[in-house]
Amino acid sequence: MSNSNMRIGVLALQGAIEEHVSMTKLAFKSLKLEGEVLWVKNLEHLEEIQGLIIPGGESTVMGRLLETSGLLSAIKKFANESKPVLGTCSGMVLLAKEVYDRVVGKTSQPTLKLMDITVERNAFGRQGESFEEDLEIQLLGEKKFKGVFIRSPVVQSLGDNVKPICYLNGRIVAVQQQNILATSFHPELTDDTRLHEFFLKKVTK
Ligand code: GLN
Repeated sequence: MSNSNMRIGVLALQGAIEEHVSMTKLAFKSLKLEGEVLWVKNLEHLEEIQGLIIPGGESTVMGRLLETSGLLSAIKKFANESKPVLGTCSGMVLLAKEVYDRVVGKTSQPTLKLMDITVERNAFGRQGESFEEDLEIQLLGEKKFKGVFIRSPVVQSLGDNVKPICYLNGRIVAVQQQNILATSFHPELTDDTRLHEFFLKKVTK
């Protein structure tokens, strides 16, 4: 694939879309790559891209919209063809095989079930309990990465094929399963492009 036609999509059904678009553009710039970032709202858009970002927002709402738009099964196919996918916060919830919530227990919300992980939604509490914490992510180098946590999930359990790539106080907050990456936190709300760069490098491979 030549770099000039590299196209990244941000799932644009709901949530923090524009922030991921800006961050991906900055990451292109910093890697000196040419590329475009598109909003993915339907099946046609999905066909135009080589890598997909699933943003934060509200996973219950996004899951329902994924179902009604037909994107749920189309994104599964997309990822199963080894195309890179990055999910942040709600995006992580949507990638999970199983989702728990402290209040309701196992949720019945529709998810992509692409990652062999069980997550607990809102594991750090409510909006008002949002926080930032410097994280160690070896994949991204020595310098700490600012983790922004807003009603974020944690990974409670994971299959052998899933690699934890970041911990916060012993809890798993980022994982990788082959071509799929997920973070509990919001890298698009920082000024650090390293995670998006890492993702773009996966797409260029
Ligand atoms: N708690 C939300 C959910 O489960 C995620 C919040 C977020 O993406 N900032 O979808």
